[in-house]
Amino acid sequence: MKKIIFATGNENKMVEIRMILADCGYEIVSQKQAGIDIDVVEDGTTFEENAIIKATAISKCPEAAGCVVLADDSGLEVDYLDKAPGIYSARYEGVDTPYSIKNQLIIDRVADAKGDERSARFVCAIAAVFPDGRVLTRRGTIEGQIAYEPAGENGFGYDPIFYVPEFGKTTAQLAPEEKNKVSHRGRALEMIKEVL
Ligand code: IMP
Repeated sequence: MKKIIFATGNENKMVEIRMILADCGYEIVSQKQAGIDIDVVEDGTTFEENAIIKATAISKCPEAAGCVVLADDSGLEVDYLDKAPGIYSARYEGVDTPYSIKNQLIIDRVADAKGDERSARFVCAIAAVFPDGRVLTRRGTIEGQIAYEPAGENGFGYDPIFYVPEFGKTTAQLAPEEKNKVSHRGRALEMIKEVL
């Protein structure tokens, strides 16, 4: 069976990715399962650049020979905060700061914003590097607003404060399958699936 290596150490993301790519005809393994233990410095200036940097670095490892390598870079853009945290979403206010604190900080920083001024989106760029060296990227987004207070237990990261008006819920209140259908990552992966 053809193999996809997904360049992430984030188990939450792997759960979503496996669910979405389950029927694409490839065996899906994480970077760790493939035995690749390298730390890639994500010093790009866009989601796409960072995804390409990660996927390219992994594809050069001998363990990745003959495999398709996928990498994603994702984050939250809050319009009222000039699109912060953006590509710095994981590092925002410190990598080890709990999301309960990061989420409350964002809520506090948009306290003066009302209605549409609270607009935000999750962005996900996925880069694919094929065994013949071809590289492509796809971007998925989901539009929403910063909630007035955190809600929901599902998902991870900023999900409890990302309110999607069309559902009347935060993405942390959506069932995993519901989130995958409409999420930035789900949409980007569906586009990659078409290419595969
Ligand atoms: P990455 O691992 O460099 O792509 O960083 C992504 C960061 O963006 C995560 O650590 C989260 O903070 C945030 N993020 C990305 N996707 C989601 C999501 O689906 N829900 C909640 N937070 C997300």
